Amino acid sequence: MNMNERIAAWNEEAQQCACGHQHRVVDMLIHLEAGAIQRLPGYLSEQGYRQVTVVYDRHTFRAAGSDVLSSIREAGMHVDEIALPENRTGDIIADEAAIVQVMLGVRLESQAVIAVGSGTIHDLVRFVCSKMNKPFLSIPTAASVDGFTSAGAPLIVSGIKQTFQAVPPEAIFADMNILEQAPQVMTAAGFGDMLGKYTSLADWIVSRDLGGEPFCPVAYRMTEEALHTCIDHVQAIAEGRAEGVAVLMDALIVSGISMLIIDHSRPASGGEHHLSHILEMDLMQAGERPVLHGAKVGVACALITVKYKELAQTSGEQVFGIYDQLPEASQLIAWLEQVGGPVTTEQLGVTPEMVEHAFNTAHTLRPRYTGLRYINEVLNTRLG
Ligand SMILES: [Zn+2]
Ligand SMILES: [Zn+2]
Repeated sequence: MNMNERIAAWNEEAQQCACGHQHRVVDMLIHLEAGAIQRLPGYLSEQGYRQVTVVYDRHTFRAAGSDVLSSIREAGMHVDEIALPENRTGDIIADEAAIVQVMLGVRLESQAVIAVGSGTIHDLVRFVCSKMNKPFLSIPTAASVDGFTSAGAPLIVSGIKQTFQAVPPEAIFADMNILEQAPQVMTAAGFGDMLGKYTSLADWIVSRDLGGEPFCPVAYRMTEEALHTCIDHVQAIAEGRAEGVAVLMDALIVSGISMLIIDHSRPASGGEHHLSHILEMDLMQAGERPVLHGAKVGVACALITVKYKELAQTSGEQVFGIYDQLPEASQLIAWLEQVGGPVTTEQLGVTPEMVEHAFNTAHTLRPRYTGLRYINEVLNTRLG
């Protein structure tokens, strides 16, 4: 089955799911293949778009943006460009300033906005498109994150990382020729984001059983299968081969869709993501350069696995038995190392104080009952 047939099957299954969640019918065209971006001009004309806007940065212009612009122009359409400027350290941050830059560049006449890049550019474009009520099209340039196909836009507002519900892409053109060329650190980050599903899925069981939170078996299974496929292909992903990158991108797309179906990040984001968000804010506050999202998530997943296994052993609560089934932290680290990602907090540029701060505060970031929340609110209170 190709991706669009799989989406149809998930939609059908989700419509019959009685879990209590609302299930969104996912209507998204997905091209995941070599040469996918060549389909873009034809798609634009089918949709009747004559004026579009393309958003990119210095790196993604070279990777895909320049080809995208010329193919749209050759098809006789009007295209505006937004080249996102980098900050002093050469990074792009999805904050208020960047949001305004995108908004100023999108003319009212523009009929669609095309994001060319990794997660940050996608988050900015999806947010602006939701505010300006315009369709958003996705051209990923690296298999680095699972957010491409979701609706949530993680943005830094007033120094705090928050996820805003925005819009999913109307279509995604994931071109293997481009994704395969991405630096291995980006691919490794995508793998780290997928590895984090071990703890996010386990936390979802805990949220359900201890917090009485909604649980969708369809979204759970989609994410679990995507994770296992990645683990089965870890060697191909490590070598950056087309086969491996295609498996990883497929998994990231599926993970994004699982969040989209239930309009919640539960399947894909648990305690490991909450830790990662605090580390991101602390790094920013310390004036350090940002670290790839998936790189932080991968390391945080290994760190929290140690705590979760302890919890399973010592708490006596049956619900935490799910953490016993997690792979050993040493195995998680070995996989991260194999694909070429960072494995220690030092490699992330994170200090021991930042790690401690994250462990003590990350559970307050989202209203979710996770193992991390239990450790902080029940265990530590009892001990203290
Ligand atoms: Zn993530
Ligand atoms: Zn459901």
